[in-house]
Amino acid sequence: MGNRFKVGDLEVLAVSDGLGFTPGTVYFRGTTDEQWEKHKRWLNHAGQLEFPFSCFLVDSGGRKVLIDTGLGPVNMFGFTGGALLDELAAGGVRPEDVDVVFLTHLHIDHCGNVAHDDGEAMKAVFPNATYRWTTGEEEFWWEPDPRAATPGFDWKKMMAAVSGRFEIADDGAVIAPGINVIGTPGHTPGHAGVILSSQGKRAFILGDTISCPVQLEESEWSGMGDMDGGLARRSQEAALREIESDGALMTAAHFPGLTLGRVLQGEGKRYWEAV
Ligand SMILES: [Zn+2]
Repeated sequence: MGNRFKVGDLEVLAVSDGLGFTPGTVYFRGTTDEQWEKHKRWLNHAGQLEFPFSCFLVDSGGRKVLIDTGLGPVNMFGFTGGALLDELAAGGVRPEDVDVVFLTHLHIDHCGNVAHDDGEAMKAVFPNATYRWTTGEEEFWWEPDPRAATPGFDWKKMMAAVSGRFEIADDGAVIAPGINVIGTPGHTPGHAGVILSSQGKRAFILGDTISCPVQLEESEWSGMGDMDGGLARRSQEAALREIESDGALMTAAHFPGLTLGRVLQGEGKRYWEAV
């Protein structure tokens, strides 16, 4: 079941499409068990990061915006997806109710429920939605670098399925009242997050700008999915400073608990605490 919360007048339903597991030392290549000793709260009993494929359905005055779509109905590398539509249904949302689908980026674990196989072609999962992502993502994924693509998944086919309903949404774009895009490149060339703002309250939903809360404490660590780790860390720092400027709430696609959290300071370091 998903979680519901409010940001001013915006209503948010956070659901997960499934779960993934990866050892912390594998996800953050080059890190050691010793380094993880003080960060064990982010690992399960088997020493693995256990992470949801979070998707956020935001209702802005009746307009329903879905942020990211999860992994889709597949099982790969021990990652299992495919729960999104049932989770939305449990929250009273049908695919045809969704007005906009915004993807933070087009990695497989975020675009898996954009379109599903339908004979030779693929068919849009959310038939009435406008599909949106940044120029950087649009330019990259029609012919993706094999290092970023997942074997067996055809981006061209997926993007073709929604190209008639596609609109660019770059940094600063308004997706719906109170839902704005914030560019955070690095994880992928055109990666972006979303800022929710209403009634003087703000919340940041950051996709994979930050993959795991441990990165607030270990701000140099870059996860295995980061295409440009240096740029990704600069985007992380810029987003965190913006969040700290007014004490906004934040979460990201693979943070635990399907909840927002606060960025706090202790012993000279930042850390993330769920609310
Ligand atoms: Zn991801």
